[in-house]
Amino acid sequence: MAKKENSVVKELEKELLYKRKNVCKTMSTKEIQKADDFCEDYKTFLDEGKTERKACDKIVEMAKSAGFVQFETGKKYSNGDKLYAINRDKAVTLCVIGEKPIVDGLNLIASHIDSPRLDLKQNPLYEDNGLVYFKTHYYGGIKKYQWPAIPLALHGVVVKADGSIVKVTIGEDDCDPVFTVTDLLPHLADAQYKRPSKDLIKGEELNILIGSRPFKADEESGTAKLAIMKLLHDKYGITERDFTTAELEAVPAFKSRDVGFDRSIICGYGQDDRVCAYTSLMAILGIAQEKTPAQTALCVFADKEEIGSYGNTGLGSNYLEYFIMDLVAACSDCNNTDFSQNARRCFENSKCLSADVCAALDPTFPDVVEKNNCGFINHGTVIGKYFGSRGKSGTNDASAEYLAKIRKLYDDAGVVWQTGELGKVDAGGGGTVAMYVARMNIDTVDVGVPVLSMHSPMELTSKADVYMAYRGFKAFYVDE
Ligand code: MN
Ligand code: MN
Repeated sequence: MAKKENSVVKELEKELLYKRKNVCKTMSTKEIQKADDFCEDYKTFLDEGKTERKACDKIVEMAKSAGFVQFETGKKYSNGDKLYAINRDKAVTLCVIGEKPIVDGLNLIASHIDSPRLDLKQNPLYEDNGLVYFKTHYYGGIKKYQWPAIPLALHGVVVKADGSIVKVTIGEDDCDPVFTVTDLLPHLADAQYKRPSKDLIKGEELNILIGSRPFKADEESGTAKLAIMKLLHDKYGITERDFTTAELEAVPAFKSRDVGFDRSIICGYGQDDRVCAYTSLMAILGIAQEKTPAQTALCVFADKEEIGSYGNTGLGSNYLEYFIMDLVAACSDCNNTDFSQNARRCFENSKCLSADVCAALDPTFPDVVEKNNCGFINHGTVIGKYFGSRGKSGTNDASAEYLAKIRKLYDDAGVVWQTGELGKVDAGGGGTVAMYVARMNIDTVDVGVPVLSMHSPMELTSKADVYMAYRGFKAFYVDE
């Protein structure tokens, strides 16, 4: 009797209650191997695309070799056409024109390719007691104490007075020198330890060491600063004044690697949000190769998310809206009188996955999340109705109807997913690009990969989750 009751309870529990699934338990050995293989190329993408410019270049290069061509305003396009549009070398949008009329809407995935880092100031170069440094201003939300005493690489562009552009990449090759922010030895850190922890390292202490040998020529010695500037002039043809018109970014110099005896986790810089950039990129390249999708597919890789999506390469600008309008004009045989109506139909019929990472529960710091509503490593794609902070401020808050649509889509495709919010109520929070896409009257929801050590120089994701994100994005693109 007791046994029978037990099985009834078990059945009812199975039918009525929700239990989170560990992806690794649901995947076959073959599928796990596929996920591991997928992540090998992902790691290369992380290593080759450490800044928004580098990631943009890499995405365009991969799209071109998959047959994508540059979008030209005024030209007509039809189904099967594969296009890319670059915004100022820092953001890029890929598009595969679908079978259905464009007014029926787009399937759009939007991620960002900028990550927290140390940017050089406009007058960065100085010498202090024989050591030469760059002054920096950090970009995005960082825990400043995490950035000293690690090797840094320098990436970016210097635009000279004559308008010519010098590209800089130092510190990525094993033979390159690296740079570093120095920190105090513990023996002398008594006063430093007494600072409030957010000031353990202050913003103005994030100074990058770049050299120490003084200039010496014909018995006449100059400063070490001059010696460094001479080196830079010899190599890049730049002067100190050229820094004022440069964008140079210091990022962790180490390469992404496997973590754990089982190699189940990837550590690497900039996985927020290049994990969603890469998985959505592979999804759109995949469908472009296989079969023309019913709906037109759009893959957006935006800049400036980490500082609030401001600036004309961020999704707070109108660039994406204008591109979609150009696309409507390029795809529909409309005359000018019904163009704006067509554009409005296209927006309202479109749907979007705002693809960004979510904080995963860290068992060492469980107090900041609420366990029924946070993301877990190895539990699949996080579907977040809302992020934001203080009473859902600064979030999109997807509708139940649209959430249900994505739920069915993922369930039908066998994509393991979980829900997640960004920490306990009033514990903090954060935003994504979702609200900027929703502003265009497009159904939008946050979807992404759970991450540990987010915004640190070495972020962690699970290979199984990365692969699930890719599978979900692919299913989304073929949805009608
Ligand atoms: Mn992000
Ligand atoms: Mn972020």
